[in-house]
Amino acid sequence: MDSFQIAIDGPAGSGKSSISKALANKLGFKYLDTGAMYRAVTLEALEKGINLENEKEYSFLQNFQLKFVNQRIHIRDVDVSKEIRMKRVTENVSLVSSLNVVRKKMVELQKQFALNCNCILDGRDIGTVVLPKAKLKIYLTADIEERAKRRIKESYKNESLENMINKIKIRDYKDSSRDNSPLIISENAMVIDTTYLTEKEVLEKILKEYNKRK
Ligand code: C5P
Repeated sequence: MDSFQIAIDGPAGSGKSSISKALANKLGFKYLDTGAMYRAVTLEALEKGINLENEKEYSFLQNFQLKFVNQRIHIRDVDVSKEIRMKRVTENVSLVSSLNVVRKKMVELQKQFALNCNCILDGRDIGTVVLPKAKLKIYLTADIEERAKRRIKESYKNESLENMINKIKIRDYKDSSRDNSPLIISENAMVIDTTYLTEKEVLEKILKEYNKRK
């Protein structure tokens, strides 16, 4: 049987990772959180104290030991799943992920992961660049206020709503306006606005579409 790949893209807080995980469990597919990979590169760059804007300083990527173990991300066998959600990482990840040298390496690893397997990848450029031939492409979105509320609930409990809205706006702008693989709605993607939908309702919509195409 041919492998079935699902691409899920969308801006911060649109529900990508929780929907992707639930879908992967339901279908028995492998799941890759590509945002976590860009965050891990950002964490490593910050730890090394390099000039984040200088592509030449990313030579560490050649031997970068990045691994997922039970959906947790490890750098050199150390679990950094919590550290990659730190503010300083979130505030710099859009800059780091806009660099060609970083994208080239990450896209290569993501394509390798998806080779010949039934899998779900979520991110910003999955349907457009990483898996342009994915059998199912989903673009999740939601109102900015709703997305900010979700982010506060998930990971940043002490942040005010206003601050979070501003931070997400900045990240959305950077991710959508960069030259290399900007966040755009892939041609033939199914767009789902999750603002007023429960996770179960979103899953049902995706599963319906999956069943038509499998
Ligand atoms: O999904 P998450 O919000 O964790 O992603 C963090 C950042 O990683 C995004 O804001 C974006 O800058 C970058 N990213 C990307 N391409 C992807 C996934 C994430 O540029 N496929």
